[in-house]
Amino acid sequence: MRIGALEAGGTKMVLAIGNEHGEILAREKMPTLTPEETVPAMISWFKEQGIDTLGVASFGPVDVKLGSATYGRILMTPKLAWRQYDLLKTMQEALGVPAKVDSDVNGSCLGEMTYGQAKGLDTVLYLTIGTGIGAGIAVGGKLVHGMLHPEAGHVLITKREDDPGNCICPSHDHCFEGLASGPSIEKRWGKKAHELKENPLVWEIEADYIAQGLVDFILTVSPQMIILGGGVMHQEQLFPLIRAKVVEYLNGYLQTPEILDIDHYIVPASLDDDQGILGAIKLGIEAYEEAANH
Ligand code: ADP
Ligand code: ZN
Repeated sequence: MRIGALEAGGTKMVLAIGNEHGEILAREKMPTLTPEETVPAMISWFKEQGIDTLGVASFGPVDVKLGSATYGRILMTPKLAWRQYDLLKTMQEALGVPAKVDSDVNGSCLGEMTYGQAKGLDTVLYLTIGTGIGAGIAVGGKLVHGMLHPEAGHVLITKREDDPGNCICPSHDHCFEGLASGPSIEKRWGKKAHELKENPLVWEIEADYIAQGLVDFILTVSPQMIILGGGVMHQEQLFPLIRAKVVEYLNGYLQTPEILDIDHYIVPASLDDDQGILGAIKLGIEAYEEAANH
């Protein structure tokens, strides 16, 4: 079986062909321009490759509700050209194969649970900290959808008094993404995040905000593992700082084996930045199986 996989991002599209074992057989990248430019190019690549099914992990918000009339539509994105665009339907009709969509971060969570370090677990949180902050969440083996899909990047956190910057989220005064995304670090300090490695206050503030978000997710979702990905998490010095802050904020309240072994509980992504595209492959496999069962 040839599985078409698309990781649709706000700046670039990653396309791949995978097999049932999660092996990537071919791969292509293209910039995210307008739907009129980008979607026909993606369709022709998949047509040339020949696919039996399609899985899409997309930037959002995106309609992921199975059975919805607008399933696979991009909703109120700040990327105006893509707002209300029927991404999945357009691609599926052109390609004539079964297809399934989820949010980009739910896709990454699924990739880690299927092919990565979270294999065998059923309740997992995947957080990306990059241009934005997004959380993919699986509970009891199922990716969380509900009324939409989690938008946990916008939970409210407490701003530190020594923070020289401001929340940059246009919608909220003190949210996680507005205070801790890559662009918010860069606005606060006036430099690219990767140029700030030697300034300890940068990472102390950043780790504090990430820990605040994580404590809320730990206490509500009860994940068995927390995986942190995205560009900002390439700053590996953040991991011990975040773990220490989480323990400090929990303050002994939780004594689970996971929390007591925090180094193996809060971990970096394990799939070399392929977690999203591998999750899309798994979505493609599920689309194929679900079509065969109907
Ligand atoms: P996206 O979120 O757009 O998919 P990334 O996860 O790579 O892409 O996030 C990009 C953001 O991450 C940039 O805005 C930058 O602030 C930050 N970033 C990228 N690389 C690094 C790095 N090595 N160290 C710290 N921050 C980084
Ligand atoms: Zn916000």
